[in-house]
Amino acid sequence: MPGFKTIDDVAVAGKRVILRADLNVPMRDGKVGDMTRVERLAPTIRELAEKGAKVVVISHFDRPKGKVVPSMSLGPLAPALSKVLGGKRVAFAEDCVGGKAQAAVAGLKNGEVALLENLRFHAEEEANDQGFAKELASLGDLYVNDAFSCAHRAHASTAAIAKLLPSAAGRLMQEELEALGKALEKPARPVMAVVGGAKISTKLDLLGNLVAKVDKLVIGGGMANTFLNAQGVNVGKSLCEKDLADTARKILDTAKRKNCQVILPVDAVVAPEFKEGSPSRAVDINSVPADQMILDIGPKSIAALDAAIDGCKTLVWNGPLGAFEVKPFDAGTTAVARHVAQRSQEKQLLSVAGGGDTVAALRHAGVGEKFSYVSTAGGAFLEWLEGKELPGVKALAS
Ligand code: AMP
Repeated sequence: MPGFKTIDDVAVAGKRVILRADLNVPMRDGKVGDMTRVERLAPTIRELAEKGAKVVVISHFDRPKGKVVPSMSLGPLAPALSKVLGGKRVAFAEDCVGGKAQAAVAGLKNGEVALLENLRFHAEEEANDQGFAKELASLGDLYVNDAFSCAHRAHASTAAIAKLLPSAAGRLMQEELEALGKALEKPARPVMAVVGGAKISTKLDLLGNLVAKVDKLVIGGGMANTFLNAQGVNVGKSLCEKDLADTARKILDTAKRKNCQVILPVDAVVAPEFKEGSPSRAVDINSVPADQMILDIGPKSIAALDAAIDGCKTLVWNGPLGAFEVKPFDAGTTAVARHVAQRSQEKQLLSVAGGGDTVAALRHAGVGEKFSYVSTAGGAFLEWLEGKELPGVKALAS
């Protein structure tokens, strides 16, 4: 990951600072349904305001596809921001460029905050349009990007604008880049990756990158079935991508060449149906009945994973180890997540997790706060795990 400037490296007092945030939050009945992203943005805004900046917050919301869609207005986010800033006034401009935006910015005194309307009401935003980026840039003296979760997109507000103004990472972006850097760029070894989820077809790039970087690769969830099947194990009625057996074998060969130990389940919890109350039991991985499906890892696999984790210093995690939304198939993910959390709390392990389902699974296990770092970025976190260069991060390179 390239080096980048932070708020510590730029003088913001009296300056108009354009702050790219990710305020694409879940809404319910016109109100913010989950304040996590808003709360996590607050420290950067507060710090910039306290240092005397005029803070101009920009963000996209949903997918209006270049048109003004009133239900996708960022308007409701102004009171939400005000709330997390302890009641501080947050002005709102009904457009992110042009006269309305200029007037809102011109009305700011040092230490004040304005939020501009949804960037994606203009098609030029997603087109990474240079002219649109110039219009945005004309509203500020400095650009601060705090939206790691949007960094996999080369859009005008994440990529082009960074070349037009002096740029720096906000605290949230900085925290994320530092945590991810410690986990895969220069990790304390041994490093383990835990990859679960439904299918390998969606995670081929990710697996390919990880086998070259980590010392141990744990494969769980539905995707483990594809690897087991490729090795001749009968997986019964389980979710399994049989047409990807060759691909799975190639990944295993590469892992061997790169000295990456692949850890697959040695036992499984099986049931006739993916349904709450379906009679389930643990069986050896070589004894999966033909009329049953694997829905979780079994107790022997949990114990083996816990022991392997104890030998590691760093761990990255994406994807549940079983069909965790339905009990009792959450048990494997919950048990292993709790073990990782405990080792992290004891400072024996640096753990980083991310991805939508993963965050939900960790919350379900009651350990959402107990990993070293949990990324709320979905797509950007996955592309980072795939080893891809993120345009929004590259644009900040100093
Ligand atoms: P992903 O989006 O690829 O991370 O996949 C997450 C989904 O994988 C969750 O909805 C889980 O229920 C599902 N999953 C995990 N393990 C299994 C399994 N053994 N069989 C079927 N689905 C599974």
